[in-house]
Amino acid sequence: MSQTKPKSHSTPHRQSQGGKDFRRRVQRDKSATATHTPQTASTPRVGDTTAKPCIFLKEGREKSLQRRHPWIFSGAIDSIDGAPKSGDTLPVRDDAGNFLAWAAYNADSQITARVWSWQEKDVIDANFFRAKIAGALEARRTLGISKQGDGMRIIHGESDGLPGLIVDKYGDVLVMQLGSAGPEHWRDTLADILQELLAPVCIYERSDSDGRELEGLPKRNGIVRGTLPQDIEVSENGLRFAVDAAEGQKTGYYLDQRDNRAFTGELAQDKDVLNCFCYTGGFSLYALRGGAKSVLSIDSSQEALELAQQNVTLNALDSSKAEWQCADVFEALRKLRDQNRKFDLIVLDPPKFAPTAAFAEKASRAYKDINLLGFKLLRPGGLLFTYSCSGGINDDLFQKIIAGAALDAGVDAQIVKKLHAAPDHPVLLSFPEGAYLKGLVLRIA
Ligand code: SAH
Repeated sequence: MSQTKPKSHSTPHRQSQGGKDFRRRVQRDKSATATHTPQTASTPRVGDTTAKPCIFLKEGREKSLQRRHPWIFSGAIDSIDGAPKSGDTLPVRDDAGNFLAWAAYNADSQITARVWSWQEKDVIDANFFRAKIAGALEARRTLGISKQGDGMRIIHGESDGLPGLIVDKYGDVLVMQLGSAGPEHWRDTLADILQELLAPVCIYERSDSDGRELEGLPKRNGIVRGTLPQDIEVSENGLRFAVDAAEGQKTGYYLDQRDNRAFTGELAQDKDVLNCFCYTGGFSLYALRGGAKSVLSIDSSQEALELAQQNVTLNALDSSKAEWQCADVFEALRKLRDQNRKFDLIVLDPPKFAPTAAFAEKASRAYKDINLLGFKLLRPGGLLFTYSCSGGINDDLFQKIIAGAALDAGVDAQIVKKLHAAPDHPVLLSFPEGAYLKGLVLRIA
């Protein structure tokens, strides 16, 4: 929209925001005289500051919302009426004034608003959140996830209709992560509802991800309700894992790989296994239980490796078959290559190299590097379990990177299975960004 063609919307009270009258007023206001200061294209204009807070999109920029994508980028916004504060719930309207959604506003993020609801009649309050959380719990009940153990992601952000909110359950402890201004605003309400519906002994907050900075939110880490037990454990497909909710990575454990770890265990019998980026030993424990001949596990975190070894003891697995290395995987793989070590099954589950598409190129080189080395360390007929949890790398690009790595390693490889996150990490169809975890199981000739 041209900077010289301003408009000043005013938002009526939501009970009376009838379509026609409202649109007429917007048409009339479009011819109003400029009163605002010109701003950059991605900075929404200040609308009528005396009107009720409301976000107005630029002409034609309502399409992604109509497809029910829950993010509103600053560049799509024409103007913002009123004087909203970050975390406030605002109606979002198209250029003609039609209601599109209720969204949580964040003045400090490139994602200026995230949708709570598409229904104009909805009221965003404790009852709204109770119904959403109860719905997410019901979905997991239907999927039978608790049959696999007492660990579960109970709220998976956008894909559960609660943008920015992650809640993981480890036995009777809940760990919540608030990733944007909306859940930050409703923090106490959300904690009360979780307490009411699940009666945990503790709700612990791990709002310390790097993403918080992009949202202009300070990092926070601590108890929200109850008392944190000394030892937290999660059971998973008959194995037990110690979880460090306060200091461990993410919320303490990687629930998303549950089914993929189980698949590795099924194929580990009599194999020499290499588990890279092993964290607290997830894939390693499944491989040991699955009858692996040997399991070499590598991670750069000494704390994670200590917990991993505790986990071997906790499950009475044969520690003589397990070797642990505290090292940088990029260097360790080169050393193993130079030592001519060979494996039958290799797992590569690195951290997020590309949080967004902007990092894709650099991340692609890192993925190619470790996968190329992985292929070289496999014996003929060996299996490579390779993952990316980068939101900035999609399935197609990941497969292309792996194909390039196989070519350069001089191996012929087949995809024998494509893997994703476990079902308690659903992907909303209208939010493909939710499909962050992708994995390939490859067999080399
Ligand atoms: N596979 C694990 C989760 C892996 S998370 C599971 O199933 O639980 C990624 C791990 O990579 C973290 O433990 C982190 O400490 C480790 N890491 C990150 N960069 C690394 C590097 N360059 N070399 C070795 N480990 C690294």
